[in-house]
Amino acid sequence: MAYNGIREQRQDTETINDWGGSSLAAARDFPQKCLGRADRSFSQGLQCQQINSVMALLSMEDAAFVVHSPLGCAGCCSMANDWYRVGQIYRGSMALKNARVLVTNMDERDVVLGAEQKLAKALRLAWERYKPKVIFIFTSCASGIIADDVDSVAQEVNAELPDTVIVPIHCEGFKSKVCASGYDAAFLAITKYVLEKEDAGETIPNLLNVFGPPTVSTVDQMEVERMLGEIGIEANYLPFYASLEKIRRIPRAAASSAICKVFADEFMKDLERRYNIPYSHTIMPIGTRNTDRWLRGAAKLMGKEQEAEAYIAREREAIAPLMADLRRRLEGKTVFITGGTGRTFAAGALVDDFGMKLIGMQTPTYDKNIQEDVERLNAIHGDFVLDVANMMPFEQVNLLRKLKPDVFIGVPIWAARLGLPTTHVLDIKRPTMGYRNLVYLGQKIAAQVENPGYNKRIAQYATLPYKESWYDSDPFKYIVKEG
Ligand code: SF4
Repeated sequence: MAYNGIREQRQDTETINDWGGSSLAAARDFPQKCLGRADRSFSQGLQCQQINSVMALLSMEDAAFVVHSPLGCAGCCSMANDWYRVGQIYRGSMALKNARVLVTNMDERDVVLGAEQKLAKALRLAWERYKPKVIFIFTSCASGIIADDVDSVAQEVNAELPDTVIVPIHCEGFKSKVCASGYDAAFLAITKYVLEKEDAGETIPNLLNVFGPPTVSTVDQMEVERMLGEIGIEANYLPFYASLEKIRRIPRAAASSAICKVFADEFMKDLERRYNIPYSHTIMPIGTRNTDRWLRGAAKLMGKEQEAEAYIAREREAIAPLMADLRRRLEGKTVFITGGTGRTFAAGALVDDFGMKLIGMQTPTYDKNIQEDVERLNAIHGDFVLDVANMMPFEQVNLLRKLKPDVFIGVPIWAARLGLPTTHVLDIKRPTMGYRNLVYLGQKIAAQVENPGYNKRIAQYATLPYKESWYDSDPFKYIVKEG
């Protein structure tokens, strides 16, 4: 059966969203299907999958975007737009542009009578204003519940605009609790409305599709492209700052690779099925051993193993003295990591480059792709606390108060209020990937550990909204197993 874009419904793996406990127990029980489905009886809110579809594409410069929703759903566009603008600065642009977004602003009347006419009007307006090569439509819970026929509207308007491709993306938030489903929705739509309608064209032997999530900074993208260039591979890097032309080149690549474990993995499988394009699905290239694995995975498919080995040896040697110094400053420090699924597990191995010890992790999902990463981390660090949670800060602060790590790596809003030194690897502004950027990241972590005054001062004046009794409670008490 073809993949429908809902991660919980994949045939080849269970996807766990709500679980907490020992990492050794997780690695032992998941293969036996014993982690079990659960839900939270109290939840502080989930990341909607629509935001992932929006984030993935909003930086495409020859595109316009129509969010078919009430106004609130389009709120996430401001964050994605900020990332787009930051990326322009790093690319040397002096005149910053905003993404070209329209929202249909569905209201109560539309929910009763339908909003297809509003959508058609917004699509025509997007074309009149921007003359884009492609218009993406993002659906929402409201448009899905009232069953607006978004695809028919897109087809009808597209008939008037022969030089533009209209691509409806079905990213209604209610469909999935796994926000990465939003990435899949975007890729499914690109396949249906762009790739399926065109000839694949001839293969370009040294071209590698590199699928990077929008949380990868511009400097990291450049470093990935540079590393591949050093071993003779041209990267077709997508979808951040991509174009319709780059999307059209996807079927011409000799192979594909993703730089995140939960980004484009289903899409790469589909490319292999349709166009016979092999893919490498290893790990995010942060930390030395992860970068080795990622680079070797891509190089093998492209017949560049020797070049990759020579390059890895050169880069490792170049950073060795700096890494030794960082290890001296960070060895033995305990660390708690949060972030997206792909990044947290990769960061768990990265901290071992500095001799740090992983004691806790909060990550959105657990599935069969993650199993090998958990086993690897267990082998490196031994047992650690694993919280499978799509945004649950109340569990995070409970765990942080109990575990008292020396360093917190992740979005720092709550940990800083506990006075912990914080750094994050989910950083669209700073370097983290590859060998050279690892040194930069290590220096950041070391600087935080050695100069914790700022967060300590924050903790004096900013309080968290929880009673002391919560910190005494089991952090996973609201996770209720089904049945
Ligand atoms: S699409 Fe649904 S879940 Fe997402 S922001 Fe809108 S109402 Fe919320």
